[in-house]
Amino acid sequence: MVNTGGKFGPYSGPGPVRPGAELVRSRIALRVRLKSEAPGDRLPDAGVLAEELGIGEITVRRALEGMCQDGLLDRRRGRSGGTFVAREWDSVAAVLHDPAEGAALDAFHLLLECGLVSHAAGDIPDGGLDGLRALVEEMDRADAPDRLPELEARFHLELAQTLGGPGIREFAADLLGRQCLLLPAPEPEVVRARNRHHADLLKELARGDMALAVAAVKAHPHAVPRSGPA
Ligand SMILES: [Zn+2]
Repeated sequence: MVNTGGKFGPYSGPGPVRPGAELVRSRIALRVRLKSEAPGDRLPDAGVLAEELGIGEITVRRALEGMCQDGLLDRRRGRSGGTFVAREWDSVAAVLHDPAEGAALDAFHLLLECGLVSHAAGDIPDGGLDGLRALVEEMDRADAPDRLPELEARFHLELAQTLGGPGIREFAADLLGRQCLLLPAPEPEVVRARNRHHADLLKELARGDMALAVAAVKAHPHAVPRSGPA
């Protein structure tokens, strides 16, 4: 699964490989999707981000600078300064979308989940799916529609954690974070409608039926096309 650039997946693309900078971008995009930070919020200092991501602080600073140039982040000077998520995050990110690359990543994410499900089916400890079930219920009940894209991302991160462990969760976080910059956030009502795939998947995982569990994953494309003008 490791390509010649030393990276996973089909997404290294042409040009110089900048895994550190890409990691920073994708993780910040994921934090925004998960509402750990909202547009207008101040990001943790570069040193803190570097430690969290296990990469050099200089790499983080350069990546943040690049994101400021793109308009995704704002740098403010002075005592209350720092690096902030741009208030226009959504509209700037929309300009950077690349549906073809997003679809390629989505296909890769689907393969990852099929592999995880086949690997883990029949092998999940009692109670191992409780966190995922709670998320499915939360999605069914969520009153605020803008929480649904966040919960959707949380479900797939938690799935990777439950079936593959912390290393695979990090890998899924990388894929999801990249997708946040390549594709529009799924529409809340679509997320809610497709929550039944999550429920089906958990049911089949609990029963240990690998074929039906994989079928539930395949019925559930993550990249949900947006309706509206083409
Ligand atoms: Zn989902």
